[in-house]
Amino acid sequence: MTAAAGIDFFRSGALPAPAVDQAAAERIAAAQFGLAAHARPLGSQQDSNFLLTISDSPASDSTVSDNPGSDGVVLGVLKISNPAFSAAEIQAQDAAAEHLAATVGGLRVGTVLHGPVTVATASGPAAARVLRYLPGGTLTGPGYLAPAVVAGLGTIAGQVSRGLRYFTHPGLDRVLQWDLRHADRLVARLAGQVRDPGLRADVQDAARQAWSRVQPLAAHLPRQAVHLDVTDDNVVCRTRDGLRTPDGVIDFGDLTTTWAICELAVAITSVLHHAGAEPYSTGPAIRAFHQLRPLSFEEAAVLWPLVVLRAAVLVVSGEQQAAIDAGNAYVTGALDHERQMFAQATSVPADVMTALITGELGFGHPPLRVPGGSALRPGRCEILDLSSQSDVTDAGAWMEPELADRLATALLAGAGPAGLDAVATRFGEARLAASQVLAEVSPATVATGVDVWLGRPAELTAPWPGELTSAGPDQLVLTGSGLALTLSWNGSGREVAGREVAAGAKLVTLAGGSRLRVNLRAATAPPMPPLVRPEYARGWLALAADPAPALGLPPALGRPAGLGMPATWDKPEEDLLARRDRSFAAVQELYYRHPPRIERGWRHHLAGTDGRVYLDMVNNVAVLGHSHPRIEAAVARQLRRLNTNSRFNYSAVVEFTERLTALLPAPLDTVFCVNSGSEAVDLAIRLALAATGHRDVIAVREAYHGWTYASDAVSTSTADNPNAVSTRPHWVHAVDAPNSYRGRYRGAEARRYAQEAAQLIAGLAASGAPPAAFLAEPFYGNAGGLALPDGYLAEVYAEVRHRGGLAIADEIQVGYGRLGEWFWGFEQQGVVPDIVTVAKAMGNGYPLGAVITSRAIADSYRDQGYFFSSTGGSPVSAVIGLTVLDVIRDENLQANAARVGAHLKARLAELAGRHELIGAVHGSGLYLGVEFVRDRGTLAPATQETMAICDRMLELGVIIQPTSDRMCVLKIKPPLCLDTAGADFFADALDRVLTQGW
Ligand code: PMP
Repeated sequence: MTAAAGIDFFRSGALPAPAVDQAAAERIAAAQFGLAAHARPLGSQQDSNFLLTISDSPASDSTVSDNPGSDGVVLGVLKISNPAFSAAEIQAQDAAAEHLAATVGGLRVGTVLHGPVTVATASGPAAARVLRYLPGGTLTGPGYLAPAVVAGLGTIAGQVSRGLRYFTHPGLDRVLQWDLRHADRLVARLAGQVRDPGLRADVQDAARQAWSRVQPLAAHLPRQAVHLDVTDDNVVCRTRDGLRTPDGVIDFGDLTTTWAICELAVAITSVLHHAGAEPYSTGPAIRAFHQLRPLSFEEAAVLWPLVVLRAAVLVVSGEQQAAIDAGNAYVTGALDHERQMFAQATSVPADVMTALITGELGFGHPPLRVPGGSALRPGRCEILDLSSQSDVTDAGAWMEPELADRLATALLAGAGPAGLDAVATRFGEARLAASQVLAEVSPATVATGVDVWLGRPAELTAPWPGELTSAGPDQLVLTGSGLALTLSWNGSGREVAGREVAAGAKLVTLAGGSRLRVNLRAATAPPMPPLVRPEYARGWLALAADPAPALGLPPALGRPAGLGMPATWDKPEEDLLARRDRSFAAVQELYYRHPPRIERGWRHHLAGTDGRVYLDMVNNVAVLGHSHPRIEAAVARQLRRLNTNSRFNYSAVVEFTERLTALLPAPLDTVFCVNSGSEAVDLAIRLALAATGHRDVIAVREAYHGWTYASDAVSTSTADNPNAVSTRPHWVHAVDAPNSYRGRYRGAEARRYAQEAAQLIAGLAASGAPPAAFLAEPFYGNAGGLALPDGYLAEVYAEVRHRGGLAIADEIQVGYGRLGEWFWGFEQQGVVPDIVTVAKAMGNGYPLGAVITSRAIADSYRDQGYFFSSTGGSPVSAVIGLTVLDVIRDENLQANAARVGAHLKARLAELAGRHELIGAVHGSGLYLGVEFVRDRGTLAPATQETMAICDRMLELGVIIQPTSDRMCVLKIKPPLCLDTAGADFFADALDRVLTQGW
């Protein structure tokens, strides 16, 4: 290689930043560029950078962070380059910035405003220039980066890479320590600087291995001009609606010609020190880059090794820079981040990441070629399915620690006279039985091999010839035919000695009842843990093969259908979503953009098919908890006996309606059975019209009551229907939402809501249209769990009755014990309505609804004909309704809601004391609302932030969703069996998100 025209790091050694203090920077700005400015030092490893602001109004810290609104006084960034860089190198950087600014639409670029000029510094003459300051802040710091932000970083890297593809300049000819083409010698040169010997050895070892994967492909890697520092520190964001989107790039100081793929490797390495980031967190950036600038197979294959090398280079360079430039806070502060990046980059074997990346980008991976031959030939074998869709995981059995052993032993024992030779698990299966509840990080659930329980003594033989080694007393590895077959067992085994073995040679004899664990991988692949995390399963499994045929067992049928991975890497789940889109009306929206596939629930847990278990904080319908065995048993029993309609005479419907009316005060003694909340509200309205002869109905703003014609007519929530208020039929009159937190009247003033509602009712009556009913949730569920102002319902009910109308309480969300202190929401207000609607919790997820009213009102419906709903009050419906009430009573669920709810509310209130975003914590029992605001003075709703927080909570294992017209309230309405551990897990996760970002 001829000597570079520019800097050659290996000749010049370390490059401390030029010594320029603040006063000197201000002098340079004034003398060279005519800028009377205040200079504030900005961090840099090898240059000296200062933010220039108009002298008399120094920019606050926020000017360079996240506050784009206050940048008016910034003049630019004064950059005094390291004296080691030549004029040509500086010109190349300025020209590249200009080129990108001119050619890449929508990308903001830190181009040059003034200069360069040569200035004297204590370190010698150096180039000084003023660069354009891009407001909005970077991604600097340890905060969490959401997948969309990581994708944004990848997009910027892709734009820069495409934009610089044909850019040439003599100043690109340089040898930088950051150029990963030199990473091996750089690490070799600087490793001695790493003070911790353990870390030093790890870095050297990882770099050596990574280099051995890059080097054979080096000749195939395209080269071009590369910015080489598109990192979290150097991309600038615009912030809209509280969320950041990278849209700019600064600092071209590391521009050089090198492998094009380095642009992406450098960018994604910088993700790895952020809160919660791990290798798979870089996926969105890889995909975004690939979309703009497709990777070749070779580039995809070297990407992760280059990430490891980048992290190694950062660690050794950081240590060296800290040694020579101890006063540079930017350098010393970065050390922890650099170590963190290295730890993450090497936390998953590079080969696994490479298989994951090449698979994700569609390059595929040829399956391992496994020769014929088998180690074991069981005659009769049973397959044990431990996935979330297996019946063996019913009734929470998956939480039992030794489930697989117990089931296998039971299968062997119960096999009858012929007996079973073996019971085996499935390769590649996501085992729910391996999962954990309340885990912020997904547990390892996907099997990289199979487990076999032997029904009788068996002798294992070599399925193909190879070399035999042993990593432990109960383990053998047969390496041959490019494969490594690992056998490990518990129980007594007699090993056969010898190293080279022929096909058919005896390996070990195992006793009946032993468990054998078998893995088959490429001989070059890393040893495999028996279970791996679903995010990485695709990478691991690409390096493995199903060992079943080599054991004489039937193969798992392809990849088990239930194997799911997070959406970024996942294909099977996307297939299901595509099928859903084809057959299911799209207005029936999903909770998440990338929803996990959930096929099982148990208590307050929901299990993804990838074995990830989520805490369910939204399913108020499953009031008792998911899959309650008493419901299942009651339904099964009743389905075996009778299911018909309520025109027949049977006991269940009588018992159920007696139980319901016993829960309500007089005169609410008469029940109509329907199937849903919408039907219940619809019927309640029709009853009121029939009973009063009036035609108008008063509803409250921000309400949801259902989808049928009449229940939709009184639904005013703009979150559910943006045109809700303007499209109400003429007979519906909406009063203000009595919101004492953010409405027109707050605190003590809130009693005016009732006065206004009463006035409206009186006005309607005076105009000849007295209302038939006033309809409201008695505790404001849809607005986020707000209690109505004290005395609100008493006053409004009195007025509507005074005008001949009725009071309807919609208890569909808040009733049935959820509020803890009260079984019904209206009790909190100290009133008794004329008509109550109930659904949701009533059936624990089975479609059940009811309208409960007085005998007189019920009888008035006679004018409308008779009432009949085919499955309303059917024997099965009635039995479910009864069983739900039994379980609520027997398991003390209302008291649990009060106790756990109070604990959770106290925890949330404590969070509100520490996190400005929480404007208020509403609610009672286990109907709570955490309202997020951008400003506690203006109460500006943090709508987009709330959605982003919900997405982040899902990553941390919590299912939670927003509500209210502003969609800025977390609606907390879990199954009432939620325990304190679950409540604490929720509060801890929320604390983490509010601390680390979203
Ligand atoms: N009323 C209220 C207060 C509700 O929350 C809902 C459902 N979200 C309904 C009525 C309608 O119930 P369903 O979905 O069972 O028809």
